[in-house]
Amino acid sequence: MSNSIPFIDLKAQYAHLKPRIDERIQKVLEHGQYIMGPEVAELEGKLSDWAGGAEAIGVSSGTDALLMALMACEIGPGDAVFLPSFTFTATAEVALLQGATPVFVDVEPDSFNLDVRHLADQIAAVARAGELRPRAIIPVDLFGLPADYVAISEVAEQHGLVVIDDAAQGLGGRLGGAPIGSLAPLTATSFFPAKPLGGYGDGGAVFALDAEVAHRLRSIRAHGKGDHKYEIVRVGINGRLDTLQAAILLVKLEVFGEELKARDQLAQRYNAALGGLVQVPRVPEDCQSAWAQYSIVVPERQRVLDALKEAGVPSAIYYPLPMHLQPAYAAYGAGQGSLPVSEALSRSILSLPMHPYMSEENADRAIAAVQAGTASD
Ligand SMILES: *Cc1c(COP(=O)(O)O)cnc(C)c1O
Repeated sequence: MSNSIPFIDLKAQYAHLKPRIDERIQKVLEHGQYIMGPEVAELEGKLSDWAGGAEAIGVSSGTDALLMALMACEIGPGDAVFLPSFTFTATAEVALLQGATPVFVDVEPDSFNLDVRHLADQIAAVARAGELRPRAIIPVDLFGLPADYVAISEVAEQHGLVVIDDAAQGLGGRLGGAPIGSLAPLTATSFFPAKPLGGYGDGGAVFALDAEVAHRLRSIRAHGKGDHKYEIVRVGINGRLDTLQAAILLVKLEVFGEELKARDQLAQRYNAALGGLVQVPRVPEDCQSAWAQYSIVVPERQRVLDALKEAGVPSAIYYPLPMHLQPAYAAYGAGQGSLPVSEALSRSILSLPMHPYMSEENADRAIAAVQAGTASD
């Protein structure tokens, strides 16, 4: 077997940014304000620019960003939260942590994002049953592609629901020219190292279009404090972003635009070579993906996985089991067969290496392996 190539090359990125990152970290070590140091506010300002002016609140993780967004909307027991089943655990987890009930929605087979027709059906079904109050929709920008916020916002408005964008993978994406962070009243993103904008540990941010909501989020982030540190006006959490992570992210944000272009070029290279061979991701006309992942759909997945392994090309499966079939969440779903697209994707999807520092040579190695794995005997 030939030597392996990385799935995500954070070492190459560090080699490129080392002097700037080391300098920023050194500065924090010297001023010593490890909690809520000046880098946090500086990063929030720059993130706000990225998000078309939405207020940005740096937080401890993408999961906490989602949780705090639900807390800011006072979503809790008796509330139904609509979300795709084909997603990472955290999307469903936060609804349950708040005592709300997740209602799973199927996704589209080609964009992998929330199926808005099925969303409307699920809202109608919950309203008819009359046991839960429809309150929120959490669309996920899966693999970096913005969900259809135009259609989703229409449905939300009809039923008086709040939209919370799970943009853990979506930061850097655009819809109709508008950036992620500005497409929903609340947006949660993650700086987990493997996300498009990743730090060197856990971190995240919430974007809020409304200043009053942003103010509430800053209070929730600091244990629900009021105007004085020891006046507690609501229940909050320890949800702060570390100063050191903010310092690192400030450097990474400088090259984020270039990195998004490099990701897009790699996606185009994959598309051109694989488009006729396997199902490649569909990006709607007015959309720009942040390409957190590049995922293909192949009916005989195991053969392709084997061919990739043989060629020393790493791959990953996001996600091998949809949320409505997970043991911990099955009680909130309608079982096998209820969300056929999510179920079919979990059996046939796989992700190829995707990062901004991948060489054309390594991309072509991945392409050749997929071609080998799909060739008829
Ligand atoms: C990564 C991820 C999260 C959680 O982010 P963390 O920073 O790891 O807590 C939430 N939702 C989705 C879709 C994700 O991919």
